Amino acid sequence: MGSTSVKQPLPTVRVERIDPFLLLHHFGPYEISPPIDPLDVGPHPHRGFEPVTFLYQGEIRHKDSRGNEGLLKDGDVQWMTAGRGIIHSERAGKDFLERGGTLEGIQLWINLPEKNKMNQPAYQDIKADTIPFAPVDDPRVKVKVVAGQHQGVKGPAHTHTAIQALQVSLSEGGAVTLPIPENHNALIYIVRGKVRLNDNWSYEKEQLIQFRLDGEGIALHAKVNSEVLLLSGEPINEPVAQWGPYVMNTQTEIMEAMRDYQMGKMGFYTEY
Ligand code: MN
Repeated sequence: MGSTSVKQPLPTVRVERIDPFLLLHHFGPYEISPPIDPLDVGPHPHRGFEPVTFLYQGEIRHKDSRGNEGLLKDGDVQWMTAGRGIIHSERAGKDFLERGGTLEGIQLWINLPEKNKMNQPAYQDIKADTIPFAPVDDPRVKVKVVAGQHQGVKGPAHTHTAIQALQVSLSEGGAVTLPIPENHNALIYIVRGKVRLNDNWSYEKEQLIQFRLDGEGIALHAKVNSEVLLLSGEPINEPVAQWGPYVMNTQTEIMEAMRDYQMGKMGFYTEY
């Protein structure tokens, strides 16, 4: 994603990772002018973690070295387990590209513990209409549970460590308090809008705020119509060796990943 409209709030110069979260990219919103695909991420490998895509607007088509192909539509979430290795591409949907429109999403990299890094690759294609809403007192707030649970409502994503992922939409004036499991690292990313946090500071779109492990909840109050992604997870607390698209525990395992990719052990990607 070479465009200037990819925001990378994680990692930064100051924050290397928020265990188990390794990377957060916010791409778009792009106004698509056919036939140019602003996304167009060609074939590349992954090993040792889970790349997750939250698509907010538009359509993305996905294809990989194991013969999988899929189309994500707005509101869908793709939860991929790269595991022992996969080569894939991500591009704007063909029909969507012809029609034009807005493309916007978040890609999140979640680490896997050592015992799951070499799992068989897997996908969870989570369609928008299968993501449940949790009950909220304030009718101006909607909370979708993608992973973990909120107010007794469980998200559809299967995770290897405890993860909570909530998509929170607030109309102006809407307020909600979201509890965070006690031993979790947590962050919020403001996709759009402006929210006041814990009756204190206000934060604007494209800001990422990290929270300490104190078991306190996060209180949000929307100053304008806002979209917030809340992520929390149990830290894995293992050494991290990362090189580009591979996230392992040791440098030797990184070398193995590079060699296995060269030898075709992550499969072969064919364009068509
Ligand atoms: Mn990728």
